[in-house]
Amino acid sequence: MIPAAFEYVAPRSVAEAVALLRQHSYDAKVIAGGQSLIPMMRFRMAQPRVLVDIGRIPGLDYLREEDGFLRIGALVRHATMEHSPLIQERYPLLAATARVVADPLVRNLGTVAGSLVHADPAGDWAAALMAARAQVVAAGPDGERVIGIDDFLVDTFTTALEPDELVVEVRVPIPGPRTGGDYQKIERKVGDFATAAVAVQVTLDEAGRCQQAGIGLCAVGPITLRATAAEEALVGQPLDEATIRKAAALAAEAAQPTSDLRGSAEYKRDMVRVLTLRALRNAAA
Ligand SMILES: Cc1cc2nc3c(=O)[nH]c(=O)nc-3n(C[C@H](O)[C@H](O)[C@H](O)COP(=O)(O)OP(=O)(O)OC[C@H]3O[C@@H](n4cnc5c(N)ncnc54)[C@H](O)[C@@H]3O)c2cc1C
Repeated sequence: MIPAAFEYVAPRSVAEAVALLRQHSYDAKVIAGGQSLIPMMRFRMAQPRVLVDIGRIPGLDYLREEDGFLRIGALVRHATMEHSPLIQERYPLLAATARVVADPLVRNLGTVAGSLVHADPAGDWAAALMAARAQVVAAGPDGERVIGIDDFLVDTFTTALEPDELVVEVRVPIPGPRTGGDYQKIERKVGDFATAAVAVQVTLDEAGRCQQAGIGLCAVGPITLRATAAEEALVGQPLDEATIRKAAALAAEAAQPTSDLRGSAEYKRDMVRVLTLRALRNAAA
C-alpha cells in the first residue's frame, strides 16, 4: 500500500526539531531510519501529517564512553553497534544483540533509539538495554530529562516520551570489571523478529559472587519484561549451575507469552528457560 499524504520537514538542529514537534504535536512523527515507521505508514497504521526527519541533524551519530556511560547518539545505526570495536571488546551483551537485529539491510538504516521509541515487545534492543540498565535522554521544549529504561517502556508501542520530545541519546552505564553478558534469540529464520529472546548482563565481585544482574525478556509479553525474581536469585550467589538453573526457571515464570504463528505459549515459556540458561552460562564464562 501507499502511505497517506504527508508534509516532510528536515530540521538541522535538535532545537529546530523540538520546535516542530511542539508546533505539530500528535500530528507529527519523527523519522530516523524509517525501518518501523515506513512499514506502519504503508499499512496506514500510522498516518502522520508531518514527518520530522532527524537524519540531517549533525552530531547525533556518536558512540563513545564518557562520564561513566556508553553514550549512543540518536542516529547510531544497528550496523554501527555491530561493527564497533568498542562494543565488540567491552560490551558482549550489546555486541551479541547487534548481530541478530533484523537483517543487514535493516541494520544499515535502523537506529537503536528508533527501535526503543517504537517499543515493539519483540524489539531486541529494548530487552538488551533493560538488562544493561540503560537510560534514555529526551530533549523537549524545557530542556533535557533522563528516563530510566523501565519507566521509558510503558506499554505495547507506547513510551514515556511526550509528543514534543525527541530522544537524543541512549546511555548505558559502563560495566565494572568481571562483567559478562549475552543475548540469546530464537527466530524462525535469519532476519526475523524473535520467537523469544533473553538478554543477560552479570557482574561478579572479587570472590566470584554475583554483584549485579540484569535480565530482559523479548517477545514474550505485551511489553519488554524484566525478570526481577530471577535477577534477585542471582545476586549474592556464585554463578554455578544450580544458581543458573534456578534463575532460568524464575525467568520462565516471569514470561507472559501468547500463542501465535511463531509457537505456542508453552513452547515460548520453555524457550525463555533454555535461552536464559545459555545466556547465563556464556555470561559467566
Ligand atoms: C524486515 C524487517 C525486519 C525487522 N526485524 C527486526 C528484528 O529482528 N528485531 C528488531 O528489534 N527489530 C526489527 N525490525 C525493526 C527495526 O529494526 C527497528 O524497529 C527500527 O530499526 C527502528 O529504528 P528506525 O531508526 O528505523 O526508526 P523509525 O522507523 O524511523 O521510527 C520508529 C519510531 O520511533 C520514533 N523515533 C525514531 N527515532 C526517534 C527519536 N530519536 N526520538 C523520538 N522518536 C523517534 C518514530 O517516530 C517512530 O515512531 C525489523 C524491521 C524490518 C523492516
